[in-house]
Amino acid sequence: MSRTATANGLAHGRPGLWRLLLNNRLATLGLVLLLLILLLALAAPGLPLADPDLTAPVDRLLPPLSPGHPLGTDALGRDLLARLVWGTRVSLAVGISATLIAALVGSLVGLVAGYAGGRVDMLLMRAIDTVMAFPYILLALVIVAVLGPGLLNALYAIAIVNIPFFARNIRGITLGLSRREFVDAARLSGQSGRQILFGEILPNVLPVIIITISTTVGWMILETAGLSFLGLGAQPPQADLGSMLGEGRKLLFTTPHVSIIPGVMIFVLVMSVNLLGDGVRDLLDPRLKSGALTRPVARTAITHQVPAVTASAAAPRLDVRGLKTEFHMGRQIHRAVGGVDLRLDEGECLGLVGESGSGKSVTALSIMGLVPTPPGRIVAGSARLQGEELFLASDARIRQLRGAAVSHVFQDPLATLHPLYRVGEQLVEAIRAHQPLSRRQAEERAERLLKQVRIANPRRRMHAFPHQLSGGMRQRICIAMALANEVKVMIADEPTTALDVTVQAQILALLRQLRQARDAAILFISHDFSVVSALCERVAVMYAGKIVESGRTDAILSAPAHPYSQLLLQCVPVLGDPGRRLAAIPGQPPRLHALPTGCAFAPRCPRAEADCRHLSIALRPLAGGRWVRCLHPLLEEHGSA
Ligand code: ADP
Ligand code: MG
Repeated sequence: MSRTATANGLAHGRPGLWRLLLNNRLATLGLVLLLLILLLALAAPGLPLADPDLTAPVDRLLPPLSPGHPLGTDALGRDLLARLVWGTRVSLAVGISATLIAALVGSLVGLVAGYAGGRVDMLLMRAIDTVMAFPYILLALVIVAVLGPGLLNALYAIAIVNIPFFARNIRGITLGLSRREFVDAARLSGQSGRQILFGEILPNVLPVIIITISTTVGWMILETAGLSFLGLGAQPPQADLGSMLGEGRKLLFTTPHVSIIPGVMIFVLVMSVNLLGDGVRDLLDPRLKSGALTRPVARTAITHQVPAVTASAAAPRLDVRGLKTEFHMGRQIHRAVGGVDLRLDEGECLGLVGESGSGKSVTALSIMGLVPTPPGRIVAGSARLQGEELFLASDARIRQLRGAAVSHVFQDPLATLHPLYRVGEQLVEAIRAHQPLSRRQAEERAERLLKQVRIANPRRRMHAFPHQLSGGMRQRICIAMALANEVKVMIADEPTTALDVTVQAQILALLRQLRQARDAAILFISHDFSVVSALCERVAVMYAGKIVESGRTDAILSAPAHPYSQLLLQCVPVLGDPGRRLAAIPGQPPRLHALPTGCAFAPRCPRAEADCRHLSIALRPLAGGRWVRCLHPLLEEHGSA
């Protein structure tokens, strides 16, 4: 029951393929033009047109708009409008059929070659290579010369020369797919090769086949016209666009309309097919599939009026107030961050804790405008860096501050480091992006940084590529990079989550030492309370985009006030206490596009009462500088101020 509800919710939320396609103006134009042309071609037998092959020597070469001949006549007095409509019909039919044949045969060859591999692959691909070894149009000419001129033979020729495009494309993708885990799983479940090929691999290849079709059909129409133009396709008196163009060529200077009219038609037809094809490609390209058809801009959109501030000397390092960040996906709005306040003073380390998906990363990314837009946007709040309002800063200023005043360390160092550059070069680049240093000076500084993050033999390590280093060492490099400039705030987003426990402890020790040596304030994000408590004196607990509790780490550790914090703490294993039962928090995090009124945690909370589900709940102060967003906190009896 709830499954169908979710599925429906998704179907409504994500914009349909049609809507996405119509978002693309050029593709829509192509679609409309193509539909008009198709309609005209399909309706040709029913239209009140003259006989396209009827010659009338008296009426030869009439100009357009002559009575009875809206587009004029050709050298034999045949009605150009009728020939254009019927010719378009022929060109379309031949072009599309050739594409479908090439797609079918080529895809089949590609699928089989890519999946079977070995000798089959070798043989099929060498055959394809042979076809490709000949110049394209020459091969088509040879085929027609052998088969004899005629529309059907032109169709075969065009199809044959286009098979390699499909075969090579599909083979490459099939090759990649057939080594993937889901194919292994299908094999282990006892499926036959044919079942795997058509049941598992084909559906994954289908979008590529469609993309290739949509981007080649225009070419094929053009090639058909080319063969007919040379007299090898449509034979007189039958008209297609190419043969009409060929016949008009001799009269280009005296009566240009005879060739211009089919020429314009070819142009419009191929353009509309290509525009639509590009739109379809954008739509089916998995990288562009989610959200609108625009690529993310360099900075998160800020859609609200940000109040101006007067800078004051006593401002904290980082002061985030009322931050709200949303993701607009179709008609759904995912409220990932729903009013977050964070304050980070000089030399301080603040821990941000919460389950996966609670909005920690989005909060951190919002500060420097790193949330992708679309679909993300900041809709409320402010973020001040030592009193400077970041949400009012110019793009140039933000670029200046990124990496220089505020730096990020992410979870997966292998994904953040460029695989093709030596780590030393990457460090030097990070330094020189913000400091006017010579290469030498920057290299020296990079070496010192590596020493600071406790990398032995830094000079040699500078020449290593990321893949030559261990996970812990890579994360040290990332931390060095984050410290490369005199950063005021370092945001560490789950920096130890991808590392094993011993390396994790080393990195935490390193961060602790660095804090003493440098005065960067740290915003440390983790889903793991124990990691945060090892480093941070203050902690904020986040749930469904809101801070539900904040205060001194030791105080919250010994006596959490919010039921969620308590449950989160019970998920942490305690060293030397093997008998302790690890609890899991029952239920699911709420769906961000349908947050409940009242406390978002109420459905999972053991202490929830009726009022929790209706009232909107503010963050309330407790004794000892603590705050809690709960109507029935665990501490109220003796903690309330
Ligand atoms: P975490 O607390 O684990 O770091 P995140 O801040 O990454 O969680 O994500 C919070 C919510 O925002 C999640 O529900 C996620 O689905 C959503 N979200 C994050 N990034 C995007 C994005 N680029 N597009 C759409 N939704 C996103
Ligand atoms: Mg995260």
